Amino acid sequence: MKLSSKNLNERLDTLYDAIVVGGGMGGLSAAIYLARYGLKCLVIEKGKGRSLWMQDLRNYVGLDPHTPGRDILNHGTKTSLDWGADHLRGYVEEVTDEGETFAVKVKVGKTNSIYPIFRSKYVIAASGIIDNLPQLEDMQNVYDYAGYTLHVCMICDGFDMWDQKAVLIANTEGQIGAAFVLNWFTPYISVLTHGLCEVSDKTKQKLAEHGYPLYEAPIAKFHGENHQLSGVELTDGTIVEATTGLVGMGSTYFNHYLKGIEGLEWDGQNLVTNDMCKTSHDRIFALGDLKKGLNQVSIAVADGTLAATQIWRNIRRASPPRKWEE
Ligand code: FAD
Ligand code: FAD
Ligand code: FAD
Repeated sequence: MKLSSKNLNERLDTLYDAIVVGGGMGGLSAAIYLARYGLKCLVIEKGKGRSLWMQDLRNYVGLDPHTPGRDILNHGTKTSLDWGADHLRGYVEEVTDEGETFAVKVKVGKTNSIYPIFRSKYVIAASGIIDNLPQLEDMQNVYDYAGYTLHVCMICDGFDMWDQKAVLIANTEGQIGAAFVLNWFTPYISVLTHGLCEVSDKTKQKLAEHGYPLYEAPIAKFHGENHQLSGVELTDGTIVEATTGLVGMGSTYFNHYLKGIEGLEWDGQNLVTNDMCKTSHDRIFALGDLKKGLNQVSIAVADGTLAATQIWRNIRRASPPRKWEE
């Protein structure tokens, strides 16, 4: 059932088997499996997640490489609802471990917000990350290219950059190192720091040896049309020619709501999980970009399958067998 501020009261006394935080690629996969195992689950999705900005899913077997993330989100949400999952548009603020259950506090409505609390036996953390983008005064100018010809994922889109003139926008020395991986796909790389970091002589020398120009002035504006990049204008007036680019500026992790939970093992901002996507906490699972591993749709979808199946096993094994009784 689709929940909203109008009807969510009906579910405040429900003890869900699992609450899925984030209805993206991994979360929807988990919900589809949970629902088909006959388990009660609630997906909570804030909107505007990473997979929504994915304009083309390039590398998923069986799907057209022009499939937008938005279509998969709509389809997966509808399918999980059809099988019996609940779905709520809202923002998970806090998860509290009550021993046998979790209390999940949600902000519903960006204005005149209400803060209902839902309860579940298991929590699936499927809230992902979002790529940091260069901040310009005119963000629309960034959004016109980000996700189209200005990429954020080399594994996803490196192929589409093949032998093109590319900018690498990096905000740390470490991120500049991506140039020496990106050169598998194209050697025509200009490195832009957007004025965000100092570059050591050692790195400058390495870039020079490879023939990759370095521009340290901030970006003024992206040029091009119809989402097709043609160049980048810097604040010092320089125009760097490029038909594609890669943003390597790190990510923001949607994991704050778990920070109060004891006993969770982190690797940096990623959750560490076992081979069934269970974290170091027995009743918390983590999927996709939020867990340690490759940030790919195929992985997130498989993670959802694994987590849901392990939760089903746990609950099934603790339940009395169903007998054929008249
Ligand atoms: P997501 O799909 O991002 O889902 C997480 C969801 O959680 C989001 O919808 C978010 O809104 C929600 N959320 C976050 N915090 C909260 C909260 N507190 N409360 C409620 N909801 C919350 N991958 C590929 O395999 N192939 C590609 O070609 C490809 N291209 C890409 C292109 C672009 C431009 C981008 C940005 C990504 C691309 N990716 C691609 C990567 C892919 O989008 C991710 O790896 C994938 O979506 C990860 O799935 P996920 O379920 O972990 O996270
Ligand atoms: P969020 O992190 O979603 O939320 C901020 C706050 O709002 C939260 O703290 C929470 O309190 C509240 N909140 C959020 N959702 C809810 C809810 N459902 N109910 C109640 N409270 C809520 N953005 C664009 O706008 N246009 C673009 O074209 C665009 N293109 C992008 C392309 C790429 C490749 C990438 C990586 C990102 C793009 N973005 C775009 C995303 C942009 O950078 C922001 O990350 C995104 O819009 C976050 O939305 P937000 O500010 O609402 O932040
Ligand atoms: P396969 O997809 O079987 O691919 C292996 C290929 O190797 C085969 O095409 C085979 O012909 C070929 N091969 C074998 N030996 C050789 C050889 N010596 N030389 C050359 N080729 C060889 N899974 C789900 O997730 N959801 C479902 O709803 C679902 N429903 C199913 C319904 C049915 C009727 C069946 C039979 C399976 C279903 N499955 C479902 C399971 C799913 O099909 C498998 O899990 C999946 O196909 C496994 O992928 P794979 O690549 O390991 O093997």
